[in-house]
Amino acid sequence: MKAAILHSGQRSLKVEEVELPELSTNQVKVKIKACGICGSDIHFVLHGKMKSTYSPCIPGHEMSGEVIQLGETVTKFKLGDRVVVGAGTSCGKCSYCLAGRENLCEEIGVFGFNRSGGFAEFIHVEERYLHKLPDSIPFPQGAILADAVSTPYHAIKYQGELKPGETVAIIGCGGLGIHAVAIAKALGAGKIFAVDIDRGSLDNALSYGADEAILLEKNMQLGKILKEKAKGIDLIADFSGFMANIESSIRSMNRGGRIVLVGIGRNKLEIPMPFFLIERQIRITGSYGSDSRAIPELIQLYSDKKIDLTKSISGVHKLEDVNEYLHALEEKRENPIRFIINPEL
Ligand SMILES: [Zn+2]
Ligand SMILES: [Zn+2]
Repeated sequence: MKAAILHSGQRSLKVEEVELPELSTNQVKVKIKACGICGSDIHFVLHGKMKSTYSPCIPGHEMSGEVIQLGETVTKFKLGDRVVVGAGTSCGKCSYCLAGRENLCEEIGVFGFNRSGGFAEFIHVEERYLHKLPDSIPFPQGAILADAVSTPYHAIKYQGELKPGETVAIIGCGGLGIHAVAIAKALGAGKIFAVDIDRGSLDNALSYGADEAILLEKNMQLGKILKEKAKGIDLIADFSGFMANIESSIRSMNRGGRIVLVGIGRNKLEIPMPFFLIERQIRITGSYGSDSRAIPELIQLYSDKKIDLTKSISGVHKLEDVNEYLHALEEKRENPIRFIINPEL
């Protein structure tokens, strides 16, 4: 098959012919119809920030496609099914996996990073990673459910425990944060503040339902600004890694507030005296990927017309153009949300 390969030491992908491994009995062969380009692919491919542990390395973790072959023990899918492949991989056997909380698995991984991903014509994948995609959801929108939409969904709904009417601040409105805005809206948030350093990303956030945009500047005390604009914030979700400067933001929280960290920053967290958190019962938590609840629930929200992902697809391109659109995403060319690769083009 044709696939975009990351060779070690290279900072771009090479489209080549590769052998597909044999299909295991519990696997399904999926013909890939769409694979999203994620911000993490920029770090992985263009910046060489992570090392791949397998070869040939085929990145891409937001996949949708069609089932074209079944392993002997596969029971839940049939030929011709439209499917989304969840982005995360897990052991499938530990207590977390068995409880459907796969993103807590100690062996958690991500397609493309730990094993072959979706910038290819086909993938062989265990049926437990697949979700049926209804005909009403186009393949590109289906593909981004795997990460760009499900990761913020887990952060807002399950780690952030958003309740209707609450005031929310979303920090970082790129491919993930923008969908956090849409999800907060869909789940009934009262007021939504969008925070970013990029004016274009804030424009996107406003068009996804944010009530107010805050352009973040250097040394800005975000908490102070939030406190001035709202009486208090119930949920802050950070997709930027900016929250190292957490102290001022904590002081903007309402009692019982939650701070959910999704973006990975490098700085130490500065938090106020413990009594402030204790007495106000404020929680700080992380959120990583999503578990098996997210994609089916998002498909339901989409079918109920509570989220619209039409504007999330900034273009669909052929496999040979994957490097160009990695750069286009990095440079935020034309204010993109998600570029999609379709290997059939
Ligand atoms: Zn991703
Ligand atoms: Zn596990």
